[in-house]
Amino acid sequence: MDLNNRQSADLLVRDADLVVTMAGEEIPGGWVAIANGCVQAIGPAGDEPEAADWLSARGALVTPGLINTHHHMFQNLTRAYGPAVGCGLFDWLRTLYPLWARLDEEAVYVSTYVGLVELALGGTTTTTDHLYIHPTNGLIDAQIRAAREVGLRFHPTRGSMSLTQKDGGLPPDELGEDEDEVLADCERLVGAYHDRSPGAMTQIALAPCSPFSVTGRLMERTALLAERLDVRLHTHLAEDRDEDDFCAERFGCRPIEYFERLGWGSSRAWIAHCVWPSEVEIERLGAWGTGVAHCPTSNMLLIGATAAARALREAGSPVGLGCDGGGGDHASLWLEARMAMLLGRHGHGPTGMSARDALHMATVGSAGCLGRDGELGALRVGAPADLVVWDIDEVALAGAHTDAVAAWLRSGPARARHTVVGGNAVVRDGRFRGDGLTDALRDHRRISTEWQRAALGAGIAVRPGTDDRPGRA
Ligand SMILES: [Zn+2]
Repeated sequence: MDLNNRQSADLLVRDADLVVTMAGEEIPGGWVAIANGCVQAIGPAGDEPEAADWLSARGALVTPGLINTHHHMFQNLTRAYGPAVGCGLFDWLRTLYPLWARLDEEAVYVSTYVGLVELALGGTTTTTDHLYIHPTNGLIDAQIRAAREVGLRFHPTRGSMSLTQKDGGLPPDELGEDEDEVLADCERLVGAYHDRSPGAMTQIALAPCSPFSVTGRLMERTALLAERLDVRLHTHLAEDRDEDDFCAERFGCRPIEYFERLGWGSSRAWIAHCVWPSEVEIERLGAWGTGVAHCPTSNMLLIGATAAARALREAGSPVGLGCDGGGGDHASLWLEARMAMLLGRHGHGPTGMSARDALHMATVGSAGCLGRDGELGALRVGAPADLVVWDIDEVALAGAHTDAVAAWLRSGPARARHTVVGGNAVVRDGRFRGDGLTDALRDHRRISTEWQRAALGAGIAVRPGTDDRPGRA
């Protein structure tokens, strides 16, 4: 807190019911002043500095922006796809791979744009994305273009698949990539986009998809490349019991042993899911400092089980939250935080997971997964000004007067009134401020309808496309 800084601010978020910094302070009636994209000062009511512009947080809770640590935005093109909704993970993937094989630059750009706007409307300010299907080149470049237009902080990961059906893997052969070309593209993307400066808007990580879709050789070579380029590593791990069987049969070990054997057991990596580690493996992950993207909605929909988030946190792993693309079929980190709180209490009773624990995972824990702890995830003077103003003065929270954080997650659904990224209000008064959403939704509808019609064949009902009507922003 800097109460003596009287310089004029670019933007003042004022009159909050409560400002929760996640850096140890909760300030009733507080305000946050922003200059040059960073937090300039935070203080209590009555001490506000002058500012060129201001946002009202009256009747609202102010938190750091939420951070999404695992996602596949292209999968919003096949949301709740009928033939897959009753499937477990492996059959769900087998059903959807042929549709996803149609990905091209336009489909990636449009799905990323829509996914990023959905995240921003739900209070996310930083997100990663795991794009592991590359039928053509330049797809991550298209994602970065969308992120720059939308205005979110973006950590795309260069995914890959190289172990296909002909070699005993899960994906169809047409989706396998040449491993030398994957690594060359990883290096190209890091060179072109990875920004190491404080407040970076774009950072790249390397992300071979999973034990059942990538060779061990590519996992090893990717880990060595990440070390050389000093970037982070990401993959799916220990998501499903079928994966345990696959690893036992093919590699003679469990997924986390396999991960270690390939040189991935370190704080450079964060893994998605981690539903099935043993107690010993949880301790090892914690000792390595490997991060975990807890994806509770996806895990409940596709697997019917969930990560031991509390034990992983206690063991020392940074634990963040992730929406997981089509696995969760939404892009609201508020929903994930609420699901994480509920499942924590399902497992451990009413003291098992508080709203503040869940908010901590969605902010500080997630920042740790992305290697940006101490910089993102908490409101501190000098840190990038990423914050959310949540309406709490509305019907669904009537009667909540004594604990705004608990009310935010127990009641709701909560709505982001303003979502601010680096001092820029991407969402203001509940509306996305960019001008590309109407076009993106129109194109999204056309592409997703084409894909699903083609997969299901003529004569099978797909909700008709409405290409003749502009989408509503
Ligand atoms: Zn995933």
